Amino acid sequence: MGNLGNMQHTHTCMTHLLTCPVCHLRFTKVANTLKCANGHSFDIAKEGYVNLLTKKVAESAGDSKAMLQARRTFLEQGHYQPLSDTLNELIAGHLHREYANEEEPLPHLNLLDIGCGEGYYIGRLQHYLTQQFATLPCCYLGMDIAKDALRMAAKRYKTAQFVVADVWEHLSFASDTLHVLLNIFAPRNIAEFARVLMPGGILLIVFPGSQHLAELRSQLALLSIEEEKEQHISTQCRPYFDLLTTRTQRSPLHLKGAEVTQIVTMTPNFRHLSTEMQATLHAIEEIHTQTEFIVQIWQKRTQL
Ligand SMILES: [Zn+2]
Repeated sequence: MGNLGNMQHTHTCMTHLLTCPVCHLRFTKVANTLKCANGHSFDIAKEGYVNLLTKKVAESAGDSKAMLQARRTFLEQGHYQPLSDTLNELIAGHLHREYANEEEPLPHLNLLDIGCGEGYYIGRLQHYLTQQFATLPCCYLGMDIAKDALRMAAKRYKTAQFVVADVWEHLSFASDTLHVLLNIFAPRNIAEFARVLMPGGILLIVFPGSQHLAELRSQLALLSIEEEKEQHISTQCRPYFDLLTTRTQRSPLHLKGAEVTQIVTMTPNFRHLSTEMQATLHAIEEIHTQTEFIVQIWQKRTQL
């Protein structure tokens, strides 16, 4: 598909799925602007993302440029690729089971990563699914509150669409339209997730297990991982979803100097590091630890 095709596809996804954050009506596209029938309008940036924030957000609400750059550099080295691969396989397996029926053409699928940051997981998912399914018409979307993150994402993943928005507001997606929703180490607005997913659609929630980076966290006294997180998420999800699968994924992780700094800088820990802790951090030459991710797949019930 040429550039023109991509542009048209981009805007089709945006006008089909997004709704006005002020009045919740659908958009039409006029030049490089999304407009609702009440005259609220939002410009599509030249990089291809749209900013649907209606009020100013605190700078601390999203990741800073330094955090984003550290994350991109860290992820590019493949340290979290096993997690990305697992998510891709789980989603492809689900789509095969649910939709790949020889007699019927595949439906148009809508996949959204909420809290997508600089786009690593949704970008790799798009690449993987495009290889797995010869003709799979999809909209790939990422949402985040950090405009800088989406500028990076949109520049790199040119055929995915990115929306700047606040997860704690009414989500600017039409009800019952998404087939897959990803939520990776990000805030969760479960009632809204349930509204925008279609019946039978799946929500993948990823959060760190208790052994995640244990050796590093003990050296730096990093933010502790919330105990009983799994129970907490279950309580939030059960009114709308059935739990299909829980997968625990562990991989060894060997980090050297700069990578240790990156992994700390790319997380909220960065905002809480004392000068003393920063000195400790920079003194670490290497560390042998492991990742531990919990992946839960929840399916939206057909009758709520
Ligand atoms: Zn409006």
